[in-house]
Amino acid sequence: MKRINAIILSFAIISVIVSCAGNPYAPTNRVHKKQIKTLTKELKVLPPPPPGTTAKFNYAEDWVGTTNFSLRRPNLVVIHHTAQNSVDQTLKTFTLPRTQVSSHYVIGRNGEIYQMLNDLYRAWHGGSGQWGSNTDINSASIGIELDNNGFEEFSPLQIASLLNLLEDLKTKYKIPAANFIGHSDIAPTRKNDPNRTFPWKLLALKGFGLWYDEPIDIIGKPLEGSSTAVGIEPSEFSSVSNDSVPTSDSVSQNPELLDVSPAIALKIIGYDVTDLPAAIKAFKLHFIQTEVDTNLTDHDLRVLNNLYKKYL
Ligand SMILES: [Zn+2]
Repeated sequence: MKRINAIILSFAIISVIVSCAGNPYAPTNRVHKKQIKTLTKELKVLPPPPPGTTAKFNYAEDWVGTTNFSLRRPNLVVIHHTAQNSVDQTLKTFTLPRTQVSSHYVIGRNGEIYQMLNDLYRAWHGGSGQWGSNTDINSASIGIELDNNGFEEFSPLQIASLLNLLEDLKTKYKIPAANFIGHSDIAPTRKNDPNRTFPWKLLALKGFGLWYDEPIDIIGKPLEGSSTAVGIEPSEFSSVSNDSVPTSDSVSQNPELLDVSPAIALKIIGYDVTDLPAAIKAFKLHFIQTEVDTNLTDHDLRVLNNLYKKYL
């Protein structure tokens, strides 16, 4: 009997050693779990402050806790490119405490998804930024990092995985279509990700983000027969391009093409327009892509005029 117990114990020890050796992130996973434990303690604190502590407000004597509640839900998805050379490099970055950066998901070029954090926790992916009047993007959002060096195209497998993930998140948390955005959208002065090859139009066709009507007429109204039609399969993503967007060599600030000023239109969409040229550049990175600069051509103004109304 003793011998059998010894064999079982040896097997148990070996399996622990093997499982640790199999995952190089076992030590940081332990740190992760420890942090979850600390945060769980915070969640267990009941209001108001215990008797004897200094109360900030005129609390009633009896505490009455509601019986009806749940956890808060994310309502925004922010898409990034990693600007690194491999998933391994990014996983390492997100598990080193000194970097102070993280995201909920990392998607590799091969379509493999790493979920690094429960959706209900706050990842540190947005940094300083703003979308509409929301200035705490990390608290409201889920961060998705796409393995990409910042200049290359995104692989079909990666985009197919992203679309599957977005579908799941959208359904689970009832995230509005307009709330799928990029890092450059929330931080126009600091960020330029995801890069200009990112298929925002395809995402919008699938219900993640908004897009303008194409073709548009001279003042940005949709022409008959134009649509942002749905029904394109993820595998078709490479065939969706911005071919209909002309490369304009003219630069225009023609106010007649816009019902409101560029600053107001961009603000309605959600951009922080404190630095207007930066906001214009971020808008062009997302919606024009053929040229990404601080000029608004006639075509850009028509797009803007059509687009901002969808955010009203
Ligand atoms: Zn980013």
